Amino acid sequence: MLGKMGLKPYTIYEITDLTKGEPDSPRIAGFKLKPKDGSRFNFVPGMFSSLFINPEDKLFRSYSIASSPNEEYLEFMIEMINGKFTGQLANLKAGDEIYVSEPRGAFLYEPGSKSGDLFLAAGIGIAPFFSMLRYLKSKHLKRDIFLFYSVKHKEDIVNASELEGYGEIGLNTVYTVTRDQDDGSWHGERGRINMQMIQNHAPDYVSRTVYLCGGIRFVKDIVAELKEKGIRDEEIKRDIWGE
Ligand SMILES: Cc1cc2nc3c(=O)[nH]c(=O)nc-3n(C[C@H](O)[C@H](O)[C@H](O)COP(=O)(O)OP(=O)(O)OC[C@H]3O[C@@H](n4cnc5c(N)ncnc54)[C@H](O)[C@@H]3O)c2cc1C
Repeated sequence: MLGKMGLKPYTIYEITDLTKGEPDSPRIAGFKLKPKDGSRFNFVPGMFSSLFINPEDKLFRSYSIASSPNEEYLEFMIEMINGKFTGQLANLKAGDEIYVSEPRGAFLYEPGSKSGDLFLAAGIGIAPFFSMLRYLKSKHLKRDIFLFYSVKHKEDIVNASELEGYGEIGLNTVYTVTRDQDDGSWHGERGRINMQMIQNHAPDYVSRTVYLCGGIRFVKDIVAELKEKGIRDEEIKRDIWGE
């Protein structure tokens, strides 16, 4: 199976902290990797690869690619929850080697089929959307996109200033916090992403291509709500993580 996954050695050239992180929010680390043989992967924004620290021990986890296909590195945005794999990742440093599978997946960004897009991201489910947005920007493509992005705390927003900059390619971002107390400093939405919130900001959502990424509960709930509103199952592109 490992042979079929097309594993290649990469060098970690940068590990960054992407969020300030509140005490009840795990750190999110950005891992930038360069292929040791200088080759490039072809992938479509939305795809994921599997990472192996040591291919011999067969332990791997899958991560969405957050970089654009035309970068010379791959970036992954990883929530460091100190689990079986992330606990080991936390010990790695720049210069270390890591193995990466060929990109794969059915969550593919195909801009253009409808008049605009609706991106729905919960937590670190934002990662593949960075690949999509970075790709659009690098190609100077403008799209009419609504991104709804939920985080526990405002400090958990990944690359906030980068996201703000995508206004120029047609992105409208609606942030929602699920845990922050109301201290008057937050002007975005509150609570989990829901249909009412989507309708309020993007009343034309039915005419948009829907892309959803996050944990299973988030994805299942939103898909059920979208279907109730008449959007067909096959029109909802989704990437589900976790059990
Ligand atoms: C296609 C795909 C793409 C993915 N892309 C990404 C990505 O871009 N970024 C990313 O971070 N993850 C991503 N994941 C999840 C990732 O593959 C791992 O499942 C995750 O990193 C946990 O691995 P682990 O071995 O550290 O945890 P494990 O040892 O496998 O433990 C996971 C357990 O931790 C629990 N858990 C979940 N979140 C927390 C938390 N915040 N604190 C404490 N416990 C928690 C879960 O309920 C689960 O039982 C993706 C998964 C898939 C299938």
